[in-house]
Amino acid sequence: MEPAGPALRRTNVERLAATRFDVLVLGGGINGAVSAAALAARGARVALVDRGDFAGVTSQASSNLAWGGIKYLEGLELRLVHGLCRARNRLLRAYPASVQEIRFYTSHERGFRHGRWKLLAGAWLYWLIGHGFTRRPRLLSVADISREEPIIDTAHLDGGFEYSDAYFHDNDARFTWGFVRSALDHGCIAANYVEALGASRDDEGWLTRARDAVTGSPLAIRSRVVVNACGPYADEVNAAAGVRTAHRHVLSKGVHLLVDRLTPHRRVLTFFADDGRLFFVIPMGARTCIGTTDTPVDRPEVRVTAEDRRFVLENINKRLRLPRPLSDADVIAERYGVRPLVVDAAGGAAVDWVQLSRRHVIEVDAGLRHLTIFGGKLTDCLNVGEEVSREVGRLGVALPYEDAPWYGEPHASVREDYFHQARLMGLDAMTAPSASERLSTRLWRRYGAGAVPMLDAIRSDPRMAEVIIETSEYLRCELDEAARREMVVKLEDFLRRRSKIEQVVWHEDLRRAEGLREAARILFGDEADAKIAEYFGEQGARAAGA
Ligand SMILES: Cc1cc2nc3c(=O)[nH]c(=O)nc-3n(C[C@H](O)[C@H](O)[C@H](O)COP(=O)(O)OP(=O)(O)OC[C@H]3O[C@@H](n4cnc5c(N)ncnc54)[C@H](O)[C@@H]3O)c2cc1C
Repeated sequence: MEPAGPALRRTNVERLAATRFDVLVLGGGINGAVSAAALAARGARVALVDRGDFAGVTSQASSNLAWGGIKYLEGLELRLVHGLCRARNRLLRAYPASVQEIRFYTSHERGFRHGRWKLLAGAWLYWLIGHGFTRRPRLLSVADISREEPIIDTAHLDGGFEYSDAYFHDNDARFTWGFVRSALDHGCIAANYVEALGASRDDEGWLTRARDAVTGSPLAIRSRVVVNACGPYADEVNAAAGVRTAHRHVLSKGVHLLVDRLTPHRRVLTFFADDGRLFFVIPMGARTCIGTTDTPVDRPEVRVTAEDRRFVLENINKRLRLPRPLSDADVIAERYGVRPLVVDAAGGAAVDWVQLSRRHVIEVDAGLRHLTIFGGKLTDCLNVGEEVSREVGRLGVALPYEDAPWYGEPHASVREDYFHQARLMGLDAMTAPSASERLSTRLWRRYGAGAVPMLDAIRSDPRMAEVIIETSEYLRCELDEAARREMVVKLEDFLRRRSKIEQVVWHEDLRRAEGLREAARILFGDEADAKIAEYFGEQGARAAGA
């Protein structure tokens, strides 16, 4: 029997061609996903397509931080920082299980361009601008740092300070997927691997020419409004549709490296790198994520160069007291992408990179009934969803459920019921010994209300609680869920974005994992072997720089 996932996508691709939509959202990164989720919940007839997998470009490459942008205080961007702090607080309130406060433990080197007290004052200002929503900042002496985080080399420090922001506990791509799933639950017709090739208008609206990248078949999608949420590709998608805008993107490459866990504490170690920018050591499950770089580039297709790797490793080796310096051989995985940063289209080629802000702009062409989302951050996603649905409403699309809730974790009563049931059945006793947290907590965070039927599945068949892929924490019931409801087309969609297995398990361990074949069978049925071969083939080509 064919697994349900491919069937869901195929049905949706057929519907894309057969329906006239109010809104077609192009691009299923965070900005497209929130737009689709907000519009669908409010009652619009919405389609969402991505030419690759959802969150397969920038929204899988971030630092995983929901943060108010303390560093923008240096450029006195108080409004931006205020807005981002509010956005962060809103995420913290709405997603208590998946967006969590975390301390940023910041080292201060003697002779740095700003003194320690000045930076501490900045941290207090930041806390105040953030409405005192998080724990207060704290001054750190060298002795505090040596005692609390002995991995930090204090030789060149005169102390430091600590403040709070937040992080996405699972990862950015999984968080983005949550909005795609929620859009689907509200009737959105979404499909990954559908590429928009260009568009034209007639009296009835837009006709977008597209291609199903799985079958190669062309299709045409009709909609009254188009939202271009193609991130770093937004400019070229607009050009193909003949849409001119007052803004455009410039791109900056950012690279992170994943290594074994460096410190047992759940906090972000923060340094000022050799280039003077903030540099992070971020917890990621049983691993640590280090980065990032910031390099102007012309094209969104980027790779990690030897120079990027050297920058990250040298900066970290200089600042930590490690048994031996980290080298290329310690790198389990890499995260890389480009930040799409918004500038005025009329501004010419000269761009002041230091001054470039990370705000978003939603440019509306009311005559064409067309929106483009420029720039932005994951942190600001709820505002983007709301602004897009407001603008679409202004263009005359009826939103009958204007006040409908469209984001956030399920109501407390669902949560209480879930944890009550989990306790009754002794779920946590089934937690794998190597797991980083209790099973009940993990399932709730990843699936919310969708975790309730998983309990039922485990009660009926305890094998559903077995870990399938060694060294990952994924259970059989989670793979069942992914196969049915998470539109997994390629093995990479599951290993890299629905889960973060590819980022935390050594590639060779994954290749050897007995459970990988079984996982692929659950996801792809008879196509399992072909999908595994495709995955390792593409990974090999990537490693070879193809
Ligand atoms: C290194 C780095 C670190 C970052 N750290 C943070 C952080 O810690 N916190 C934070 O809040 N933000 C962070 N950001 C910023 C954040 O990741 C981005 O702002 C956000 O992910 C952009 O989302 P997006 O939806 O606009 O673009 P994307 O995620 O790139 O989505 C665009 C989508 O459009 C699709 N597409 C393109 N062309 C077409 C087409 N023709 N047809 C159909 N689909 C198409 C692509 O396949 C892609 O999936 C970071 C970014 C980088 C690069």
